[in-house]
Order: sequence, then C-alpha cells, then structure tokens
Amino acid sequence: MGVPLLDLKAQYRELQAELDAAIGDVMANAAFIGGPKVKGFEEAVAGYCGTTYAVACGNGTDALFLIMAAMGIGKGDEVITTPFTFWATVECIRHVGATPVFVDIEPGTYNMDVSQIEAAITPRTKAILPVHIFGQCVDMDPLLEIAERHGIAVIEDACQAIGATYKGKRAGSLAHAAAFSFFPSKNLGAAGDGGMITTDDADLAARARKLASHGTSKKYFHDAFGTNSRLDALQAAILLVKLPHLDRWNGERRAAAAVYGELLAGVDGLELPVARDFGDAVYHLYIVKTESAEAAETVMGALKEAGIGTALYYPLALHEQEAFDHVDGFVRPSLPMAESCDARTFALPCFPGITREQQEEVVAVVRRALAGA
Ligand SMILES: *Cc1c(COP(=O)(O)O)cnc(C)c1O
Repeated sequence: MGVPLLDLKAQYRELQAELDAAIGDVMANAAFIGGPKVKGFEEAVAGYCGTTYAVACGNGTDALFLIMAAMGIGKGDEVITTPFTFWATVECIRHVGATPVFVDIEPGTYNMDVSQIEAAITPRTKAILPVHIFGQCVDMDPLLEIAERHGIAVIEDACQAIGATYKGKRAGSLAHAAAFSFFPSKNLGAAGDGGMITTDDADLAARARKLASHGTSKKYFHDAFGTNSRLDALQAAILLVKLPHLDRWNGERRAAAAVYGELLAGVDGLELPVARDFGDAVYHLYIVKTESAEAAETVMGALKEAGIGTALYYPLALHEQEAFDHVDGFVRPSLPMAESCDARTFALPCFPGITREQQEEVVAVVRRALAGA
C-alpha cells in the first residue's frame, strides 16, 4: 500500500476551508508585505513560545544569520555547535564571518553532548548554538550554566522543535534568542518558506528586525547594511490557521513514536531514539540507527521497494563536509559518535494522522529486512 514519510496533502484537506479563506482574505486586501497577518503571527508565536518578542523573517537560515549578526558575532569569533544538524546551522556561522567549533553528540538523542562544551571554549568563543535535533530539546540547564559562567551567548536552533518543551518551558524561550523555520515539512509548515526569531531581549529584537529590513529604522534612511528577509503575508495567514492545531499534531507524532517504540522493541540490530524525561519531544523525525551502513542500505531499500518513505538524516556529519576543505585554519576534529551515524541513521514515517496499521506495515518491512541483512 505504501506509507509516505510525511502527508501534507492530508493536512491541507483537514483545514482546506479555513486555509482557502485566509488566503482569499490576503488576496482581497492586497496587503502582501507586512500588515496585520504578519504582526498577528509574530504575536501568536511569541505567546505560544512564551517570549516577549518574535520577529518574522524569510526562513530559518535567515533567522539564525540575523540573530548572530544582531549579536555582533563576526570575524575571528568562534561559535560552538553540533556536527549533526542541517547544514544551514553552520552556514550561518560562516556567513557572519565566524568559525564553527564542533563538539560531539550523545547517542540516542543525537543532540550535542553538553559535557564536552566547556573544553571547547576559548577566548574567541562568542556563542553556543545548540540544535534541538529531530524535535527534542538539548539538556539546556547545564549548557546555560556554562555559558553564563563564561559570559557567552546561547542561541537555540529550534527549527525542528516548535512546541517541544524543556522542564515546562517551550523551545524558543530557553536561551537568549532562538530561530524557527516554517519550511513546509517542519512541524509547523508554510506553503513555502518562512522563519521567526524569538527573544526576550528588546534590543536584540530591534536590531534583528532592522537588519531584516535593509538596516532601516526610518524609510530610506539606513544606519546599517542589512538584507531583505521577510515573511510573506500569505504565509503568515496560512501559519496563523495552522498554529492552533500544532499541539494536537505534535501529540499525534509523540503517540506514533510510542507505537514504534512498542512495535520495534527488542528488534536486533536497530537502535531506537531515546526520549529524555526533561520534557516533551515533538518528533520532527523518528530516527533509527543500524549497526552498519550496509544494513541501513538494505532496510531503506526494502522500505522504498514497499513504497514507504525514508531518508538518511544525515548521510555525512558536518565537520566531514567538503566545504571545510576551503576554510582557512579549520582543523577537522575527530567526533566518533557523530561519525558513527554517517549513512546509518534514517527516518521512519512519523506524522500526524499516521495509523497504527501504517506503522505495522513499516515495522513488518523493517523486521523482515533486518532478519535478512
Ligand atoms: C530547516 C532547518 C534550518 C533552516 O531552515 P530554512 O527555513 O530551511 O532556512 C536550520 N536548522 C535546522 C536544524 C533545520 O532543520
């Protein structure tokens, strides 16, 4: 029968009347840039995350870039981050002129290993950039304690984690500032690109907003060299319709993850994701790990043959990427845990509305392929 990795068409069918009305509203008012939908969505996200400010921008990559630029991070500075994330995380560090410093990840959660951060701090360290990978928060309390002791800023890459919690607080409200993405496949997805910065820091919010708008605080007067990074009103209108459904969708992802936990328990040769008990994960992706790249290839091949969506997340850790060949002074670290994931960690379908029958179908294929591997 087949199972997609994610079913966005079902999500549209569920909300079609509301979404079409919201889109029609923007078209009828012809307010495409800025305006009440964008402002309304900023307020809704700030309220949802529990921050004082939210600044909309073009995408999650821009959100990260704008935060770092607004913090004045630049040439000669170092930012400590994880090698097991989407490339945009380190791209932004490079684009402000700084150098990423990688620490290894923990097994099971695939999040950065907070116990390795302190040893990576140098006089040049300006920020720590934890990524709540696959929708589970990094263990923030010890990380924030280290950062505070050294006077270093902390930026959350919360692009995969909208709605996730840590000790009762939502991702996006756990550090100095956070970046969100509304790329269509994210847990809260637009019909195109979109991004958001959340923070409690009024100055930082104002600086980021100015940089996103050509360094302008008064029209045609520029006191900085910024860029053009906006959330379209159409996207804001769509996201405003979807946001009230996010917690339910995230709950369905968590329930689906629990079903996999039950159906895959005790399967030889497969490592299941570990959920820490300090909060709720939102399972942007449900990631399993095989004992070898060959086994992953076998299982993924069987899934694809059965019409079941899967993909490697991520095929190659970031410190091993070719682009670092050309970074002056970059010394490739050895990060065994991240490297052990190369071509071995992949996603199983885990989306709101997936049925137990669909999950049983996925698990049957995985079990059969592993038995034959
Ligand atoms: C998606 C993503 C980004 C980038 O977001 P875009 O909106 O695609 O620019 C950054 N970091 C992580 C961890 C992501 O998953």
